[in-house]
Amino acid sequence: MENEFDERILSARTIHSDETELSLRPKNFDGYIGQEKIKENLKIYIEAAKRRGESLDHVLLYGPPGLGKTTLANIIATEMGVQIRITSGPALEKTGDLVALLTNLQDGDILFIDEIHRLSRTVEEVLYPAMEDYEFDIILGKGPSARSIRFTLPKFTLIGATTRSGQLAAPFRDRFGVLFRLELYSPEDLQTIITNSAKILDIAITPEGAYEIASRSRGTPRIANRLLRRIRDFAQVLGDGVIDKELARRSLDRMEIDRLGLDSVDRRLLSAIITSFNGGPVGLETLAALTGEESVTIEDVYEPFLLQLGFINRTPRGRCVTKAAYDHLGIPFPTTNGENTLF
Ligand code: ADP
Repeated sequence: MENEFDERILSARTIHSDETELSLRPKNFDGYIGQEKIKENLKIYIEAAKRRGESLDHVLLYGPPGLGKTTLANIIATEMGVQIRITSGPALEKTGDLVALLTNLQDGDILFIDEIHRLSRTVEEVLYPAMEDYEFDIILGKGPSARSIRFTLPKFTLIGATTRSGQLAAPFRDRFGVLFRLELYSPEDLQTIITNSAKILDIAITPEGAYEIASRSRGTPRIANRLLRRIRDFAQVLGDGVIDKELARRSLDRMEIDRLGLDSVDRRLLSAIITSFNGGPVGLETLAALTGEESVTIEDVYEPFLLQLGFINRTPRGRCVTKAAYDHLGIPFPTTNGENTLF
């Protein structure tokens, strides 16, 4: 079930209105905008694996939601010319679920596990030998009569996606030959993504209109595409159907998304630290209780962007709001000897 957070317009997770996401998903490297370093390296690894006639090494993609991890996994499969099976950490409840998937793969196929940090320990342990030696043991029976049977697997590639690589056990992380951290996108890259999406969806938009939306999309393609669709509604009802800078600006203001892309929840979070904790430091759990948001949501969705903006700092004692955030919110920065004088 969708909760209130998931329906938030700036949520980076998939929500109901994202059905068109599939049609907007680029199918090859040319359509995949930005993340240049990752693309360059991946192209080399793919080319090398193809020349050797081998499967690609296991790949771990990490970064906040909506940055293109699933899209990239699909592109890798297309470029390698192999099939991809898609599942997620929470969906693989029992070892049997994983074994069924693994034994149905063919040489070179890709198994994509989203939210891989949420795999149970027992399922994870089946993956270790599967990743390393393409085999796994199943133990039949119990006690002294127990015996194990070894299964050999096709030479598959595991692509894992996670919002937090720090939550993977070190031996697990080490089994991935390739690790990529996806970065938040620049407004210029998001402008290109929005312009491309507008073409596919047959939306009239000016370059300035696309830039205005791009600069308020928290560096996240999924959010950029979502805002584009919402603003199309405004353009059709309030304007002449064309999204120009002025219309984009007015629509975003109506949605209470400010010029940096912060929405009411971001502002509530910052003000809570300022008013209740004098700017911090405040622990994650306290912050969650104070704002009614889940701590994982704060960590995965709000924090990466607020950190990138330099609006909060993570210290060993908790989160602190910086002077830049005070300035943005129009709240006078305290000049007393509190923590904040550090920033
Ligand atoms: P994640 O798996 O990281 O949550 P997705 O791969 O589902 O993110 O991406 C969400 C949507 O954002 C995609 O459907 C696609 O429309 C768009 N998108 C993501 N990355 C890019 C990119 N680099 N170029 C163009 N569009 C992108």
